[in-house]
Amino acid sequence: MAQLSDDCFAHGGTLMSVDAALALLADRVATVAEPEIVPLAEALDRVLAGDLVAARNVPPHDNSAVDGYAVYFDDLDIEKETRLPVIGRAAAGHPFTRVQARGTALRIFTGAAMPNGPTGGAGPDTVMMEEDCRIEGDVVALRPGIKGGANRRRAGEDIAAGSIVLHGGQRLRPQDIGAAASLGLTRLDVRRPLAVALFSTGDELREPGAEAPPGAVYDANRFTLMALLKRLGCRVGDFGILDDDREVIASALDAAASEYDAIITSGGVSRGEEDHIGAVLKRLGSIYFWRLAIKPGRPIALGQIRGKVFVGLPGNPVAMMVTFLRFARPVLLRLLGAREIDPVLYRVRADFEHRKKLGRREWVRARLIADGSGTLTARKFPRDGAGILTSMVESDGLVELPESLTHLNAGSMVDFLPFSEVSR
Ligand code: AMP
Ligand code: MG
Repeated sequence: MAQLSDDCFAHGGTLMSVDAALALLADRVATVAEPEIVPLAEALDRVLAGDLVAARNVPPHDNSAVDGYAVYFDDLDIEKETRLPVIGRAAAGHPFTRVQARGTALRIFTGAAMPNGPTGGAGPDTVMMEEDCRIEGDVVALRPGIKGGANRRRAGEDIAAGSIVLHGGQRLRPQDIGAAASLGLTRLDVRRPLAVALFSTGDELREPGAEAPPGAVYDANRFTLMALLKRLGCRVGDFGILDDDREVIASALDAAASEYDAIITSGGVSRGEEDHIGAVLKRLGSIYFWRLAIKPGRPIALGQIRGKVFVGLPGNPVAMMVTFLRFARPVLLRLLGAREIDPVLYRVRADFEHRKKLGRREWVRARLIADGSGTLTARKFPRDGAGILTSMVESDGLVELPESLTHLNAGSMVDFLPFSEVSR
């Protein structure tokens, strides 16, 4: 398995911009998930290991796009009605097995293969829709005015043999799996799921369901993270809550590192005397605190233990989720060999005014509302503390405000990151 070097997350220690941080991750984090072959039915959301090249045409044969009559265009009178004898029938899955001669019509249905012409020559090239035809016994009368080649679907017009249908690194969506099936494939070569060990840290934390004495809070982050990781297809090792104790943290992280591709923790990454993650990581491997020019979010910690990626997220639930989505998720996608790392942002109108610090990227929790004209408008959640998890519950996503902005006027267009874009 590919491993990271000790200093892969090293940097100057200065305040880092989001773009610089993401560029550094792009440069230093490589794919570790090996390929494996899975049946199509299990391929949803997996990362395709290599390009999928079509070994055949889809559709495999020219076929009719409508119910009607297959004819040779050159047999039709351009000016007036043409009358042709009907010599047989072709339906989807029931091709006409003989040759269709010039001067004839064939009753044909949607999806049926276009019949063959005489040896060495092309077959009928055009299909008249039945609405434009009149049947008189064994003869069909065809209205003038159709274009040559109309209503005929060409072999390979969906997928041409030899073309790249799916790209290595893409995460497989329902339609991608359908495209593989249309080629007759039963299995796909995908990256194995990442194994991620998950911890919360903090003496104040209690497991939901347990007694919570004064001063205690229930662990929310681990459950948010578990869900986010499942959406990424990770195999999650849930290691519960670690006390703020160096020995406990050290032995737990060390054990996890030998079995998992990555370790994610929340809490304990500030520089307070109760924040032990840094000291432990220094002992076990390496750690770099990245002071990011962002809000919300305090430093995140990146490091490695036994060559495995360590990501230490802040404890405040909102800061934790924002930094996961913008930094930890890209790290995991890179370990997985995914090619689309950056989420798509959508332009929407902001209905609020906002002041921010120059040089810092900021995310504002917002709900999307269609205004009178149907334009999507971002409405800011009124409270913005990094500990207010319900602000995420009540929001549809994050308005992402660039470093250069200091004052957002209501009515301006802004970038919006829907949660649906990054929690899938
Ligand atoms: P820390 O980053 O450890 O200083 O924690 C910052 C704040 O986040 C504190 O108020 C913690 O109680 C809170 N916090 C830390 N971890 C969690 C968690 N897993 N669930 C909910 N709140 C947490
Ligand atoms: Mg703590």
